[in-house]
Amino acid sequence: MIRLGLIGFPIDQSLSPILHSAAMRACGLKGEYLLLPVMKEDIQGIYALLAKVRSGDITGLNITIPHKQNTIQFLDELTPSARAIGAVNTVYLKNGKLTGHNTDARGFITDLTNLLELGDGQKGKKSALILGAGGSARVVVYALSQAGWAITVSARRIEQALAIGNSRLHVAEYNGIHLSPILSSIHLIVNTTPIGMFPNIHDSPWIDGLAFPKECVLYDLIYNPRETLLVKQARAVGMQASTGLGMLVEQAALAFQLWTGFNIARNVMFDAINKTGY
Ligand code: NAP
Repeated sequence: MIRLGLIGFPIDQSLSPILHSAAMRACGLKGEYLLLPVMKEDIQGIYALLAKVRSGDITGLNITIPHKQNTIQFLDELTPSARAIGAVNTVYLKNGKLTGHNTDARGFITDLTNLLELGDGQKGKKSALILGAGGSARVVVYALSQAGWAITVSARRIEQALAIGNSRLHVAEYNGIHLSPILSSIHLIVNTTPIGMFPNIHDSPWIDGLAFPKECVLYDLIYNPRETLLVKQARAVGMQASTGLGMLVEQAALAFQLWTGFNIARNVMFDAINKTGY
């Protein structure tokens, strides 16, 4: 019997129980995936749940907002990617040590690679524009810089983009005047802002009147709705574009593998989501 769970707040809309329950069934594992809401101020609540991983009562935990950073203080070890990003989304016991990892970065780059392989116009072109400079922008910056991309982060608060602290990063103010001149050299746009996320599905982070770059791919981290307005706008001008459901599935499958050793077929998780009518 394995026990998995998600710490965060609010988490009642999370798809993780569906993904991991399907994975357990497919692998013939008996177990459960619990939603463990812990409010922002409840640091003791995090500590108590991590103690259950240490004792073996819980096999592994996912961590989400607002605890991806403040969980780190209670861990014995971080993997290199978790340390570089400064946030964990997966906790497990390894050789008796409470270990924190971040599966979002590999989840993102794997799903992006699948998207890039659909078109062949992007080979050798590696200049990316990231919209937003919050937690997931840090993940995307880490993943893309590891893969050799040149990166510009565009944020409404320049100081937040600078705080990402990657010396090779360019920053640009989030407006047409500053973005327009650089777009001709951009091959990939990644939206890491929540603009367009349910219920605000009629919003788009793309600045009104700004033309998309030619021969560019777009990746929107948002996965609800399954097709955001931004993705619709990009597809309307012939761009390859994707929302973030593939990243969500990939990061979940990578966490599941760390906890159980099973490398689950991704379609098991996609099928489980499709069955919910989501
Ligand atoms: P976050 O830490 O709050 O960062 C959001 C960023 O967007 C911040 O830089 C924020 O700037 C900016 N922003 C918000 N509203 C804006 C606006 N109206 N105009 C300009 N910039 C704005 O959030 P996050 O954790 O990175 O998550 C962002 C999105 O990614 C969410 O929709 C989340 O669901 C999605 N996500 C998806 C996956 C996946 O697996 N597919 C994984 C992680 C996250 P300020 O700080 O100035 O507000």
